[in-house]
Amino acid sequence: MNWTGGYIMETDEKVKAIMAYGECCDHCTGRFFGKRSHGLSNDERGRGLKIALAIGQNLPYHRFNGICWVCGNFFDTVPLWADRVVEAVKDLEFSTFLVGCRVPPLIAENEEMVWSDLSLADPEPFKSEVNREVGKAVSILNGKVVDFKKPDLVIILDLARGIVEVQVNSVFFYGRYQKFERGIPQTHWDCRACRGAGCEKCNFTGAQYLDSVEELIGRPVTQLFDAENAILHGAGREDIDARMVGTGRPFILEVVAPKKRSVDLTLLEEEINRTAEGRVSVAIKRWSDRSEVETLKSTKAHKKYRILVEVDGALTADEFANALKTLQGVTIQQRTPERVAHRRADKIRERKVLDIEYAGEQDGKFVVEVLGEAGLYIKELVSGDKGRTRPSLAEILNKAAHVISLDVTQVEGTKEGE
Ligand SMILES: [Zn+2]
Ligand SMILES: [Zn+2]
Repeated sequence: MNWTGGYIMETDEKVKAIMAYGECCDHCTGRFFGKRSHGLSNDERGRGLKIALAIGQNLPYHRFNGICWVCGNFFDTVPLWADRVVEAVKDLEFSTFLVGCRVPPLIAENEEMVWSDLSLADPEPFKSEVNREVGKAVSILNGKVVDFKKPDLVIILDLARGIVEVQVNSVFFYGRYQKFERGIPQTHWDCRACRGAGCEKCNFTGAQYLDSVEELIGRPVTQLFDAENAILHGAGREDIDARMVGTGRPFILEVVAPKKRSVDLTLLEEEINRTAEGRVSVAIKRWSDRSEVETLKSTKAHKKYRILVEVDGALTADEFANALKTLQGVTIQQRTPERVAHRRADKIRERKVLDIEYAGEQDGKFVVEVLGEAGLYIKELVSGDKGRTRPSLAEILNKAAHVISLDVTQVEGTKEGE
């Protein structure tokens, strides 16, 4: 017996053995050999196998018209499920989708029993065929495209309960923001007293600060995308009392559960800048995606600051400028600053002062421009933080010194797309 003959015999015998379990629809019969051959649906594959068996055995062939013991004729209901999906997504704007399903345990058990009894090498699970067939049927009805990698919508069929669940994937865009007003945190903070529940202290807003950069940008965005929420992912963050000017800070805004997706980014930028009334402004560069959020958050960006420094006691501009020069290019040892010690691990970090320059006087204070390695604490570089940061400007001057105001003027972005 040659190899091909042996193969056919073997398949025939397996089909016969499968038929012995009970009436099995063409879909389920074909799916037991689902990974053999290409260009066939399981339906066609199953019918082909049954026809081959009938001819081989010289027996009459009957088209399947019973109740399948594996799936209970589930595949007759594919058009019904497709209708349910189309109905569930009718108010959503999307171009791609992916179908998934929860399979009743009994169906999975039925087919898995046959796989193991007959040592089938190439079966396809029920779940995959359901997802594919319903996906195809939906595509035909509404013209949308199945996308396995980054679908706009993920649709889950709960087969036992007869319902469709829709998960709307977030939309992302990349830009830079400037913050012109001090006292605005980057993201929403729950009120410390009530943890967001609302109390007298927060005037029942639940917020520690009324506005955040996230909310000033997010409010018009949530409206235009008809979304649930918007989350700001920043490339680092400035202190609440620091402004973010100059180049602005790179961010990705995640628009959660948007009902609309085809928003014009130029109009969106205008709308954000109009409603933020000069407190915050954005420059939106392009669309983004979830994977870039990770890149953005892990990018260690050097930052440039413009600070106003006050020194106790008499000091000439020359003396001040000379003290600054001794910090140029120096590696600073910084113990976790006292002001953040309650939420960060206490350890010593080494960060370099890449560039530091005296930029003139203003109201009896000294203006300084500093380019710091990512993670350098600027306020502590000036004050010394009671000896926790060394060397510091205060240590060099042997006088108390502190930062009166701080502006971030430049933050490096992610490499691509700017
Ligand atoms: Zn079946
Ligand atoms: Zn409160």
